[in-house]
Amino acid sequence: MDYQLTDTQAKFRELAGEIAEKHIKPLRGEYDHTGAFPREIVKYMADADLFRLIIPREYEGLGGGVMDMVVVAEELSRVCGGISLAYAATMLGTFPILLYASEVQKLKYLPQIASGKKLAAFALTEPNAGSDVSAVRTRAVKKGSHYVLNGTKQWITNGKEADIYSVVTSTDPSRGARGMSAFIVEKGTEGFSFGKKENKLGIRGSTTMELVFDNCYVPPDNLIGREGAGFLVAMRTFDISRPGVAAQALGIAQGVLETLIAFTKEHHLENRPLISSQGVQWQLADIATEVEAARALIYQVARNIDSGEKNVATISSMAKVYASDIAVRAANTATQIMGGYGFLEDFHIEKMLRDAKITQIYEGTNQIQRNIIALGLIKEYGSHKN
Ligand SMILES: Cc1cc2nc3c(=O)[nH]c(=O)nc-3n(C[C@H](O)[C@H](O)[C@H](O)COP(=O)(O)OP(=O)(O)OC[C@H]3O[C@@H](n4cnc5c(N)ncnc54)[C@H](O)[C@@H]3O)c2cc1C
Repeated sequence: MDYQLTDTQAKFRELAGEIAEKHIKPLRGEYDHTGAFPREIVKYMADADLFRLIIPREYEGLGGGVMDMVVVAEELSRVCGGISLAYAATMLGTFPILLYASEVQKLKYLPQIASGKKLAAFALTEPNAGSDVSAVRTRAVKKGSHYVLNGTKQWITNGKEADIYSVVTSTDPSRGARGMSAFIVEKGTEGFSFGKKENKLGIRGSTTMELVFDNCYVPPDNLIGREGAGFLVAMRTFDISRPGVAAQALGIAQGVLETLIAFTKEHHLENRPLISSQGVQWQLADIATEVEAARALIYQVARNIDSGEKNVATISSMAKVYASDIAVRAANTATQIMGGYGFLEDFHIEKMLRDAKITQIYEGTNQIQRNIIALGLIKEYGSHKN
């Protein structure tokens, strides 16, 4: 389908596709095995200006929006849903700065991210604060002119590899969600270190780390927005980042479709290509239809966000739920159709199944997304009588 991409979007889709095919495809199996961080591929992304794309022009970016990010995330994830996260998680860590940082903070941090020399990360989750964001316990206490951070963040994508962290803390536990505040914390700040690196089912070409704050002094200039705005910063960030997770899932599903078509054309049963079986064709038709439906939804949501629409939580969650569910289903179906070949690592379908699964879990599980969608429905239809 023609989605009428702008010239810039079409150009960056092609650039991301080239990086994916030329540089990521040959190495995705290796990164999946080793779990190492794909620094060499980040360099290709930076050289192609991928990190510059959504940064405003006044901060050395190209002035794109969520739609531009989505197109790139999809194309990278089509080949590897793990390595693509060096890009997507940097965008996640950048959104709080784009949305709420001061002019001084933007001038300091955004050009560094735009150049790709410094990656970003978003740190919210803690051992007892995942779905329940307001349960964050990492404390930021004002001491003299500085805030002192103490606490542990877990499962942070790009952890240790990123230089710029958007960290959500509690400045006033008695006020719950209203007592939360977000800070920019730079790698190398005294009292900020890294703990356990996680070993994962999928997206193994990405890094998932524990962050430890032990009497970490952060200057007040690093507060994002105002004190007490941390919950809002996190929620608004998710509103615009969730189409990115949806795009990751969409890319994986597109990769599944392409792999399955190639396999079923090649693989023969009773002297006929597998794709000539009507049973297989119907399943291919379902996957292709769902992939196109996901793409149409994600692109429209991204365009709505870029056009300045404010209440996007519901549609953003819809895009994430739908794309992640169809990606897992597509990868599971493809593995079954491919039989033993699907279960082996040679065709990367088993990897796509493992990579797809996380898209139903992070940036809010799909149960939480359904809660958000239901809340939106109740708000929209609640006052109506039938
Ligand atoms: C590989 C990986 C990378 C990640 N990257 C990041 C990152 O970069 N930054 C970051 O901050 N976090 C990150 N996370 C954390 C991720 O966002 C959380 O895992 C996710 O939000 C769910 O939280 P939880 O795992 O603590 O599950 P819990 O909140 O403990 O939930 C457990 C189960 O209960 C269900 N549940 C909870 N509350 C409700 C409810 N109200 N209604 C219905 N069901 C409910 C959940 O859906 C889930 O099935 C990452 C996680 C992983 C695994």
